[in-house]
Amino acid sequence: MEECLFCRIVRKEVPATIVYEDDAILAFKDINPVAPIHILFIPKKHISTFFAMEPGDEVLIGKLHQAAVQVAQELGLAEKGFRLVANCQRGGGQLIFHLHYHLIAGRPLLWPPG
Ligand code: AMP
Ligand code: ZN
Repeated sequence: MEECLFCRIVRKEVPATIVYEDDAILAFKDINPVAPIHILFIPKKHISTFFAMEPGDEVLIGKLHQAAVQVAQELGLAEKGFRLVANCQRGGGQLIFHLHYHLIAGRPLLWPPG
């Protein structure tokens, strides 16, 4: 866990462009954006995947979701819309095993994604 990149970002050992922070949640710009707006939302607590959630973590995931919606609203996306993505496990595209949401917006988004 000490080597987890996102835990290191939480501890400010690795720089990131932080766009939202509270006692439980951190949000920062994705280093390799796939759209003009691409922000990652993480719980400060290390949770590797949805399958590693412990009792009580559902409150944390609610806060994670609420932070993403709040930032989306502040960015003027309430009307334009956005995509909120959580990749789970390698087969789901997860590369960093610290649970996170991607907030993606700012260009037309087709579904299903390519
Ligand atoms: P996932 O495939 O869902 O695990 O997404 C991991 C995301 O983390 C990718 O979109 C990467 O571009 C992003 N990423 C990797 N390293 C960093 C970093 N140091 N700062 C910000 N984003 C990062
Ligand atoms: Zn971590």
